Amino acid sequence: MMKKRIAILGSTGSIGTQTVDILDSVDVDVAALTTNRNVKLIEQQARKLHPQLVAACDEKAALELRTALADTDIEVCAGTEGLIRAATMETADVVVTAVVGMVGLLPTLKAIEAGKDIALANKETLVCAGELVMQAAQEHGVRILPVDSEHSAIFQCAQARGENPLSKIILTASGGPFFGKTRAELEHVTREQALHHPNWNMGAKITIDSATMFNKGLELIEAMWLYQMPPEEIEIVIHRESIVHSLVEFADGAVLAQLGLPDMRLPIQYALTYPARVPCKVPRLSLAEVGKLTFFAPDEQAFPALRIARTAAGEGGSACAVMNGANEAAVDLFLRDKIGFLEIPALVERALADVPRSGALTLERVLESDVLARETVYSAR
Ligand code: MG
Repeated sequence: MMKKRIAILGSTGSIGTQTVDILDSVDVDVAALTTNRNVKLIEQQARKLHPQLVAACDEKAALELRTALADTDIEVCAGTEGLIRAATMETADVVVTAVVGMVGLLPTLKAIEAGKDIALANKETLVCAGELVMQAAQEHGVRILPVDSEHSAIFQCAQARGENPLSKIILTASGGPFFGKTRAELEHVTREQALHHPNWNMGAKITIDSATMFNKGLELIEAMWLYQMPPEEIEIVIHRESIVHSLVEFADGAVLAQLGLPDMRLPIQYALTYPARVPCKVPRLSLAEVGKLTFFAPDEQAFPALRIARTAAGEGGSACAVMNGANEAAVDLFLRDKIGFLEIPALVERALADVPRSGALTLERVLESDVLARETVYSAR
């Protein structure tokens, strides 16, 4: 079999660095790497992995990177154009989309159009434009391989389905740092408390999303597109230990689950080796050591994000793009100490009430809805 060739968008972030970490187990060639502006780290990665192209988010960072790599023949690009160049490299078969936020959408679509399989770690892409992305993937005959731990679990369980449809998806959620807190108690939680996730070590945006539970809302929409399931057939259950990564149910009521320690390197690796499985560096699960697994129904009173996401998912069209754009802006405000924790869902609901929506979903409408949703949130402050 020919060696796989990959491009990693966002190689210096949390998923990106863990992808680089497992590359010695999966035997692939790296065609391109991109970073926001972590010039030091991407330089190290480039010297180790020898891509043909690297990119940074702006001219200034790209200039620094060009100087740092002046003794190599690696091409250095900047901005959205750089991301798109990396996503469409002639020499890559699979693109790992590990950038955070809506910025991942255009390069993902371009990669699909160029016939690349996508190892998808950027959930906002499917949330904002799932309809367009899945349609493009079908048209161009490419696979969307989920990297998100829950969606990888569903994907792994679904391998056992044969010709049978899934009757239900059960997404597990850790509940984040504020599990069990009431709405009143959430009023004054701080940024530092929100950034302290009990099980997973992740980037800031997704950690805040886990605290508000918007992360699970986004994942519900992601699952809906990946597995063609209506939102009402996707159940969310709180599972504090993050050992059961998600489950599927069949017509006869049989439920299959995928278990493992909370470590993203296994789902990343499976997306790159699928359908093969190869040894992985993640420590093995010992159920006796874990002892017990607990499950709870989510509290939608304290965490309205789940209800908001379900409503947006049910509405379809550009509602999810509005929800996502508003959430990205609200998380940004919260991370800069401009708003309180409970204002995040409140601002998202306000954007959903204020931003007009109509007509069929197009890329232009997605981008426009995103901008309008952000403006609504920023101008409310
Ligand atoms: Mg997840």
